[in-house]
Amino acid sequence: MGLATARELLARRPGLRTVVLEREPAIAAHQSSHNSGVVHSGIYYAPGSLKARLAVAGARDLYAYCEQRGIRHERCGKLILATAERDLAPLAELERRGRANGVPRLRRIEAHEIARYEPHAHGIAALHSPETGIADFPAVAQALADDVLEAGGSIVTGCAVGRVSAQDGRVTLEHAAGRTVARRAVFCAGAWADDFAGARAPGPSLRIIPFRGAYRTVRPEAAHLVRGQIYPVPDPELPFLGVHLSRGIDGSVHAGPTALMVAARDAYRLRRVVPRDLLATLAWPGTWRMARQWWRTGLVELRNAVSDRAVAAAVARLVPAIGHADLGPGPAGVRAQAVGRDGALIDDFVVSGDGPALHVRNAPSPAATSALALARLIADRAEEQFGLEPTRG
Ligand SMILES: Cc1cc2nc3c(=O)[nH]c(=O)nc-3n(C[C@H](O)[C@H](O)[C@H](O)COP(=O)(O)OP(=O)(O)OC[C@H]3O[C@@H](n4cnc5c(N)ncnc54)[C@H](O)[C@@H]3O)c2cc1C
Repeated sequence: MGLATARELLARRPGLRTVVLEREPAIAAHQSSHNSGVVHSGIYYAPGSLKARLAVAGARDLYAYCEQRGIRHERCGKLILATAERDLAPLAELERRGRANGVPRLRRIEAHEIARYEPHAHGIAALHSPETGIADFPAVAQALADDVLEAGGSIVTGCAVGRVSAQDGRVTLEHAAGRTVARRAVFCAGAWADDFAGARAPGPSLRIIPFRGAYRTVRPEAAHLVRGQIYPVPDPELPFLGVHLSRGIDGSVHAGPTALMVAARDAYRLRRVVPRDLLATLAWPGTWRMARQWWRTGLVELRNAVSDRAVAAAVARLVPAIGHADLGPGPAGVRAQAVGRDGALIDDFVVSGDGPALHVRNAPSPAATSALALARLIADRAEEQFGLEPTRG
């Protein structure tokens, strides 16, 4: 998001002195390179939400950008499978949302048509989205970085931003390479967003709680059983899409991700504990309210996290021919999930700020898909908040 935003601002204001400060030694080391790689088409999101608008526009823009820049991508299509009667009502609701959001060529299909798209999938009905696809997101981030440099911006890696203070309309950033005094700053820190915009920042009161998403790799001999993306009907109350089967841009197939609350914002290993992250999670009243509401789901996720058999059972509901023995170890990512003081899992994108600082406070999935469209919204807000003459519109 930081790179896409810098690129957008530079495209609007050529010559703007812009620097991206990145803590890690390389760009896109966290969520943007540890995700399912799916270009979402905009089905799930509440009509009228930012996600609904920006997923549809973002997917269109992202495909065009990939084509223009020669980045690997494929419109491999997706099925959302109803596997039991109880899935039919939520499937109808997803279809309604998808149509309201303007998802291109979305179609409900009956059981006999499923095999046409996914010969090994099992279901009693499905939604088919031919525009859903996959993209090489790390390569997208690299192309965005190249654009920033090309437009005269700079990117400093290995430059962790620490203390931030705003005074006299300027923002002072203390960081690993010293100190920068800027006229304006846009914070896009993913899982660390609330280091800069705490619970008292303008906008809703929220904190980032890390949820680890682990994948299992489907062994190559069984990978032909999945052509594109095969998803279950998710719990409509939760922002997570459920354990799905996903063919990646390199042809490998993964099952996942799980969704387990963890003790570090970079818990790529399950047992990783960062005391500061753990304390922040435990000190947030929303964590306890969320736990009281979702403890049953939490137990299911805990079982998925520790037991291959639980994940295998979820996979077999979608593609019965994939068994426990077909699943091996896989990668993991950590979702930055904003949780409100009341325990609500905040679903929509949140961008708010005041004075010389604008914060991207919640950019969960599908922010990778939506990056170019969300960057336009962030740039619009920046122009408005910073009192800059709009350059577009
Ligand atoms: C398991 C999983 C599956 C997902 N699947 C999909 C999918 O299929 N499709 C999709 O569209 N989206 C998906 N998403 C969501 C998507 O990956 C994210 O919404 C998106 O990558 C968010 O981008 P970001 O720039 O906000 O965060 P990040 O990519 O995490 O970047 C934040 C950056 O801020 C830097 N930073 C943090 N603190 C500091 C500091 N103090 N100083 C300097 N730099 C700092 C970090 O090092 C990092 O580079 C998934 C996410 C996960 C975790």
